[in-house]
Amino acid sequence: MTDTDTPSIAKRREAVLVELAQAADPPPQLVAVTKTQPDDAIEAILATGQRIFGENRVQEAEARWAHWRTQYPDLELRLIGPLQTNKAEDAVRLFDVIETLDRPKLVQSLAKAMEKAGRHVPVLIQVNTGEEPQKAGIAPADLQGLLQQAREAGLEVRGLMCIPPVDEPAGPHFALLAKLAKQAGLSVLSMGMSSDYATAARYGSTHVRVGTALFGARS
Ligand SMILES: *Cc1c(COP(=O)(O)O)cnc(C)c1O
Repeated sequence: MTDTDTPSIAKRREAVLVELAQAADPPPQLVAVTKTQPDDAIEAILATGQRIFGENRVQEAEARWAHWRTQYPDLELRLIGPLQTNKAEDAVRLFDVIETLDRPKLVQSLAKAMEKAGRHVPVLIQVNTGEEPQKAGIAPADLQGLLQQAREAGLEVRGLMCIPPVDEPAGPHFALLAKLAKQAGLSVLSMGMSSDYATAARYGSTHVRVGTALFGARS
C-alpha cells in the first residue's frame, strides 16, 4: 500500500474519524503521524482539514514542515520520538507539544531551552508501561519523581504518553497509563496507534497517533 493520492488519504482519514467517534464521546484528537511521508501526502492530508501532526525526529520535521507553517498558521506539531538533549533548543523552537520527556537530564535541557527561546512548550511524560529495557520512557515507579522535577523546573506537564509492547494486548497498558495520569492529576493521554486507536479511545485516550492507517505502509 503506497497509494498516496488525495481521495484515498481523505477516505482513510474519514474512516478513522468515524471509528474514533463510535469508540468514545468525545473522541480523541487525531494526530497524523507524518514521519517519512512525501510532500504530496502532506498536501493531501492538509486538504482534508487535518492540522495536528506528529513527527519522530527534530531535523526531519523541520525540513518537512518549515514551509507549510507559513501557509497554515493553525498547524500543531507534536514531537513523538525520543529527544536528545543537544536537540532540545531546536525542538522547543519547532514543536507545539513535546510528548517524550522521559528523564531528569532532559528536564534541565528543556527548561533551559525554553528560557532561552522565550517560548513555553507544554510537555507530556513518556511512560515505559511495559518496562521494556530497549524502549524510551520512564518506569511507572519513577514517574512521580520525574513529574515533580519537571514542575520544579517550571515545565508545564499536561499528560502522559505510551507505546505498548508490540507483542502484548494494548488494553492493559492503556489502562495503566490512564490510572497513572489520574493519580497525578493529568488530563492528556497520548495513546493509540494504527493497530489500536479504537481500543485506546475506549480507555480514555485524548490523542491517538496514527500513521499507517492514514497513509498506508511507510516505505
Ligand atoms: C510511527 C509512530 C506512530 C504511528 O504508528 P502507526 O502504526 O503507523 O500508526 C505513533 N507513535 C509513535 C511514537 C511513532 O513513532
